[in-house]
Formats: sequence, structure tokens, C-alpha cells
Amino acid sequence: MSTFLGQISEIPGISVDRFDGENLKSSAFFLSHCHSDHMKGLSSSFFNYLINSDTYLYCSPISKAFLMGIFVGLPEDRILEIELSIPKIIRYTVPEGGESLATSLTVSTSPAGHCPGSVMFIFSKDEKTILYSGDFRINPKDLPKLNPLNDKIDGKNRAKKFDTIYLDTTFLSLDFPRFPSRLESCEAICDAVKQWLEPNSKNVVIIECSALYGVEYLFMEMFKLLNLKIHIKDKVHSNYIRIPELAEIVTIDGRDSRIHACTSKLFSTKNLLCRSDVDYENILTIVPSVMRWKGKNTSCISEYDTRNRQRLYVCYSTHSSYEELRAFVDYFKPDKIVPCVCPSDSATKIDKLLGEFMSYQMKLDESDQVSESLNFRVPFTRVFKKPFASKYFADDDDEDDEL
Ligand SMILES: [Zn+2]
Ligand SMILES: [Zn+2]
Repeated sequence: MSTFLGQISEIPGISVDRFDGENLKSSAFFLSHCHSDHMKGLSSSFFNYLINSDTYLYCSPISKAFLMGIFVGLPEDRILEIELSIPKIIRYTVPEGGESLATSLTVSTSPAGHCPGSVMFIFSKDEKTILYSGDFRINPKDLPKLNPLNDKIDGKNRAKKFDTIYLDTTFLSLDFPRFPSRLESCEAICDAVKQWLEPNSKNVVIIECSALYGVEYLFMEMFKLLNLKIHIKDKVHSNYIRIPELAEIVTIDGRDSRIHACTSKLFSTKNLLCRSDVDYENILTIVPSVMRWKGKNTSCISEYDTRNRQRLYVCYSTHSSYEELRAFVDYFKPDKIVPCVCPSDSATKIDKLLGEFMSYQMKLDESDQVSESLNFRVPFTRVFKKPFASKYFADDDDEDDEL
């Protein structure tokens, strides 16, 4: 859960992923993705504020589509889309001495691989370049392919020099050293689904999701591998239909489907409301989860509930693991990192781990040149099997050349 308060100290006058309190003094707003902990303060009164103050909210086209589904009647012309990889000049004002000074910055976005439409923001203002990662999961191996995060030098992508990275530190903990790639998790889930569905035409599968959104990549892979539409909740469907890649893989007719993400975690999954013809013995419940793997070996991707063989847990993460974060920091070697998920009881541990990640700074002080021994080897590399086409859903398994 994001604990970031919204303001980028290096660039006063803008707010990111927080839209309340002091942020209402800002004059340009940015939303990295549509998860509720990044949308605090978004409301009809905030959108009225945009109109009255002649300011704008910037986000990806998919996030805009989601917002229009969530906030019916929002002033569409106040939400401006930023296309991936295309730098945009933003004009805004900074309060100074009781006056508002007009100024500008350049922003570009990179796919964040977290959920549909999720992006990282790269802000350039005066001499400063700042990366706001938002929630993200990108295979470290793919970092050199992401053009907005790199500078072209002699025809090759080299890591951009960031003054500060505002970092998604959700799983910055030695309890979460590594995760399977999402493709591996999806394949484990699809294998289990196939095995369950084949023996009996009455058998169905429930995907138990902890939040309304976040497993869209899983749904897309399941459709690709199994060619079965997923029954989802009506209110989720009303948003998915705005996005063609998702609209074609889901249904609101429960009788249509053998895969169901229509249940609520809070309620018992013993019965399926949309399929009264299905008995409990015909249901396999699959739970994509990370917390169950806290401190455990993730080389075993899935495990059945010890007391219930009809309940399967699969390690599935849309945030970076400790090792992925370490490789991310080591790739960019920023001057400063601000952790964006930093509950007060974990702050000391997070600071310590970030200090270890940034040990290159001490060594750089000793010598201007980076020695060979400092080249951190990405410890968690995988063999990538399948391409994943859509640029907006770019993922940790993405094989696309460059974005
Ligand atoms: Zn998120
Ligand atoms: Zn259903």
C-alpha cells in the first residue's frame, strides 16, 4: 500500500498519486495507475477543482478509460492522456512570494508491468531528472529495452541518470527474495485448471482475487492458453469493456464460463451463485497470492491447502521482489531513493536495505571509475518462452524489443 504523500520535493507544484490535503495547492496532477491506494482524493469535488483551477490530471489512455468508468460524468477534457515513450511538455505554475509563476517540465512514461495502463513517470525539470516508478514489476533483463528509461549513446541504450527514484518498495524485504515470473505463475495455474476441467464437464474453477483489479495479465494468459472466457463481476466488466484486450476475454454470463472470478473473497466460495447446477465437489478454487510465500522458498510455485485439496495457492506477484528491486537500483544507480511504500514500523529496515543497494555510492566516492567487481549480476534470470504483445500490458515476461 502506497504511503507516498504526493509531492516530489525536487519539483514543487506537481502531485503524483495523491490528490488531497496539501496536494490541492499543486497545479499539475499525475496518476500512475488505477489502484485505490494511488487514487486518494480523486472524487467529483477534485474534478471540479481541476475545472475551477484550470488544471489537468495526466495519465495513460487505459487509466483514463478506467477513470471514466469509475467516476461517471467526470470532465473528460480535464484528463489528458500521455502516450508511452512520447515526451510531453507540461505547463503549470509554482507559488512564489504570493504569486503564481508559470513554468514547465517534460514528462514521459514507461510501462510499469503492474496492471493495465500502469506507467512510470520520468520528469525532467531544469537540471533534474526524476523517476517515479509507481507500482511496478519489470524483469531486470528488460530494463535496457525500455527507451524512456534509457539514453541512446552510440546507438545503444544506457541507463538514464536519475537524481532521485521514487520507488515501489512493497516487497523490499528479505522475506520476499524472489518470485516466479508471472508467465511461470500463469502456466502453473493453467496446468491446474486443465487437469481439473478435463475429467468432468461439470467441473469449474474459481479464481479468488483479493482485489477488484490486478490479475488482468493472468486472465489474458489464461484465455490465450485455455481459450476459455472468464466470468467476472458486473462492476469490473463495465470497466473492462472499455479496453479491447480485456473485453474479448471476459463474460458477464456465468453459464457461459468454466472459469469464475465473480466471487468475493469475503464470502464463502463453497457455492457458485452464478452456477446453481455446480456442486461444491466440482469446484477448484485457485488463490493467486504473495503473502503466503513470505519467508518461503518460491521455487515451489504452487501448493494445495493441506486440509483441502480443492484449494490451490499460486505465488503470483505484480510487484518486484527484493532481488528485482536490487537489480533495478543497480541498473540506474540513482543519487537518491525515496521509498513509496514505507509503513513506519518497517522504515528502519527499508532504509537499511536501500543503503545496502546504494553501496555503489561509497565506492564511487573512492574512485571515479566503476570497477568490474561492482557490476552486479542479475541474480534471477529466467528463460522466456512466449512473447506478450500489447505495449500497455508490457510485463516482466515481455520479449518485445524496445518500447
Ligand atoms: Zn497498484
Ligand atoms: Zn461466475
